[in-house]
Amino acid sequence: MSFTLAIVGRPNVGKSTLFNRLVGKKLALVDDQPGVTRDLREGAGRLGDLRFVVIDSAGLEMAEDDSLQGRMRRLTERAVDEADVCLFVIDARAGLTAADEYFADILRRRARHVILAANKSEGRAGEAGAMEAYALGLGEPLRISAEHGEGMDDLYRVLMPLA
Ligand code: GDP
Ligand code: MG
Repeated sequence: MSFTLAIVGRPNVGKSTLFNRLVGKKLALVDDQPGVTRDLREGAGRLGDLRFVVIDSAGLEMAEDDSLQGRMRRLTERAVDEADVCLFVIDARAGLTAADEYFADILRRRARHVILAANKSEGRAGEAGAMEAYALGLGEPLRISAEHGEGMDDLYRVLMPLA
């Protein structure tokens, strides 16, 4: 377990799907409804010969009050603070949203290291969304498909130096 990776991003971008792929089990609930992951969930991640701790966070919610959203957001901030590296996931099919930009700003200020991933990039549907993601100023987005296991070799290449 050489580093801790937190998967963060707004609800429904595919964080739990990616978490399950990295731990090789269905530990996290995947759902069409946003906001299903309410707690931090930690597992033993593996990618090729890499071994690491992976955290599936609640979606980064914008509300700062004591609502469920506020709690989810605080949990996520805890994940960010505990992680050596944050994998910031956006939905390449949906394109960039205001929530993505808001939280990119938080990650820029708060995270030690950010890797940007444009998920749902299987096929050609995600091309425009991945292009838009450049505007976040977090470097070149990795084009991945958590559901179909695409782009895992690129993810390996960016994580390898952190091991
Ligand atoms: P979370 O809220 O960020 O944890 O997102 P989930 O992992 O629960 O996924 C939300 C929805 O996106 C589910 O319907 C998933 O099946 C779907 N999804 C996740 N990854 C992919 C992907 O790579 N491609 C496509 N097309 N859908 C995906
Ligand atoms: Mg989830």
